[in-house]
Amino acid sequence: MKASNHHHHQTHLKRHEVHQVIIAGSGPAGLTAALYAARANLSPIILEGDQPGGQLTITTEVENYPGFEHGVQGPEMMEILRRQAVRFGAVSKFETVTAVDFSKRPFKIHAGDKVYYTDTFIIATGARAKMLDLPSETLYMGYGVSACATCDGFFFRNQDVLLVGGGDTAMEESNYLTHFANSVTIVHRRDHFRSSRIMLERAQNNPKIKWRLNQEIIEVLGANDDKGRKNVTGAVIRNLVTGAIEQVSTNGIFIAIGHSPNTELFRGLIDMNEIGYIETQGKTSFTNIHGVFACGDCQDHVYRQAVTAAGTGCVAAIDAERFLAANPMIYGYEPSHDQTDTIMEEEIPHHP
Ligand code: NDP
Repeated sequence: MKASNHHHHQTHLKRHEVHQVIIAGSGPAGLTAALYAARANLSPIILEGDQPGGQLTITTEVENYPGFEHGVQGPEMMEILRRQAVRFGAVSKFETVTAVDFSKRPFKIHAGDKVYYTDTFIIATGARAKMLDLPSETLYMGYGVSACATCDGFFFRNQDVLLVGGGDTAMEESNYLTHFANSVTIVHRRDHFRSSRIMLERAQNNPKIKWRLNQEIIEVLGANDDKGRKNVTGAVIRNLVTGAIEQVSTNGIFIAIGHSPNTELFRGLIDMNEIGYIETQGKTSFTNIHGVFACGDCQDHVYRQAVTAAGTGCVAAIDAERFLAANPMIYGYEPSHDQTDTIMEEEIPHHP
């Protein structure tokens, strides 16, 4: 689709008030997109979001990112990547996108009470760990309930902990937890597993791992200790076959039941699949909205690796750069590079 097919209207915006690229999200995808866009002289703005640096900042050691022979700490790796992008002119803002208007270009991006205008927008908002969604689980999150064994395993030395899930994440994290915990009991709602055979067998062969199959946690129990600090003390578990309910003592409950994409903000505005992953076209980062691109875990539920997210971030920046070259915004009634010219807005015709 060519810009010339679109309807244009005069706006009040000056050229310098409209950014060329705004990136939402600051994990490996967002920061790599920023690095490439910055090196293409597009002066990208990174709206970092609620978890600056993304999911790697809540892990410890990263050993599978190429180029770090001896591994690297997740938070440190993301610091390096941010500095690398900023060195070439990317601007990092610790703000979170709260609303978007994709109905015309330049797009209008709200971050709290701030408003930005941009020619192109790259969605790199990632994914987050799913939770059981029990009120008691929310209450004790960080006080014995954790969604990240790598972050919190250390705190459960010589204790008996529970871990929920039956996929690869559950197997991997329970094995990891046995380095610290006295025992790890996997609570899984079925007696079949989604995890790969090799990872399941590794868990089954680990003498510190115990199993509660066809069972689910229905409540997290806790209490305040002598210092008034809340702590998990146990869980109420239901047997899904017999219906029996049992109370189990533990100080640690790990949730390892998969991830969901951070795309609520874009629901109804952009094409996504039934579980909220943004649809991109073929091998590109193009979404169904002319000028909006998506990369990283918000559009990938299959690979979900730092390196694949970074790869798609690069793709998005290159796509945005080529898109800008092919679809320049129209300045005033005559294309011009005069910064004082006002900008024409362009209606996006195939807006869902
Ligand atoms: P999965 O979706 O594969 O597994 C999620 C597990 O959690 C399932 O066993 C599911 O049960 C259970 N579950 C989901 N929701 C609930 C709930 N509300 N209550 C109780 N249990 C629930 O997610 P993973 O994160 O394990 O893996 C995602 C992808 O990442 C996979 O492709 C996996 O192979 C990959 N991965 C690979 C690793 C590796 O190779 N090193 C490590 C980690 C992940 P049910 O089966 O009944 O639906």
